[in-house]
Amino acid sequence: SVPAAILSALSAAARGGVLFKGGAALETLATVRTFAFDKTGTLTTGRAEVTRLVPLATDEATLLTLIGGIEAQSEHPIADAIRRAIDDRGLTAATVTGVTTHPSEGITGTDATGPLWAGNPRMAAHMGADLTDPALASLQDGAETVVYLGRGATLLGAVAVADQPRPTSRDGIKALRDAGIAEIVMMTGDRRPVALRIGQGLGLKPDEIHADLLPEDKVRLVGDLAARGRVAFVGDGVNDAAALARADVGIAMGAAGSEVALQAAEVALLSDNMARLAAAHRLSRRTAAIIR
Ligand code: ADP
Ligand code: MG
Repeated sequence: SVPAAILSALSAAARGGVLFKGGAALETLATVRTFAFDKTGTLTTGRAEVTRLVPLATDEATLLTLIGGIEAQSEHPIADAIRRAIDDRGLTAATVTGVTTHPSEGITGTDATGPLWAGNPRMAAHMGADLTDPALASLQDGAETVVYLGRGATLLGAVAVADQPRPTSRDGIKALRDAGIAEIVMMTGDRRPVALRIGQGLGLKPDEIHADLLPEDKVRLVGDLAARGRVAFVGDGVNDAAALARADVGIAMGAAGSEVALQAAEVALLSDNMARLAAAHRLSRRTAAIIR
């Protein structure tokens, strides 16, 4: 039977918006050596905003509505930002069919004219598109995530999207450090300059920030970290469900995250408040001390 101390800890955690799937997850959390955090939608709000548009072989409205058409079915925070930018301007997304998601790279599809893609420099490289147009230089200086749009090797333009850290991320990370967590890292499929801006703003050191990762890179990194001790991975489930599953304790963003995250994880954070995560970690340690 489950010790009373665990039952009361589980219900106390639940009152704080942290749901454990069982007592074992609570006990494992107490022994975690490393916390690994996804960036987009986890440490950041996932409510990104379109900040700049650079049309090249087209106009602003076409650039936006074509990307919107490709992103129409996507649940990535980038897609959400594009949708809102289209709505704000009273535009309508283009009709794009045969949409395929390429995790941590972008999306491809086909409109009336032919195949289209939207994504990051890795996607552009696969398509043979050149990103050296001087008009793009100011977008590429680091602060924002850039989504490029192209037809094959022809670049149609780029949209800059900026996401902001959750107000509680910095305090949550600090509380985990104060609790003596040996290693805290951020993992992201985004580019390194963007990752550094967000991560360093949250008190992480450059060597704790891992960028340009594919979903399988996140899984491999969790495995590398697990060689030194137990790992908790905190993610929203968009491109990181496998990392959630690979970790000793997968912690899903419950309210902001996806269904797949909740399935892959042992713990759900209902409140999006990273301070609650640190509190649940303290609770797990106190409980472990009582039942030991
Ligand atoms: P994170 O690891 O921070 O959660 P993701 O792995 O979800 O970020 O995405 C990494 C990068 O992949 C994004 O910054 C973007 O460049 C590209 N990307 C992912 N999904 C999309 C999408 N739906 N549309 C355009 N680009 C995308
Ligand atoms: Mg994410």
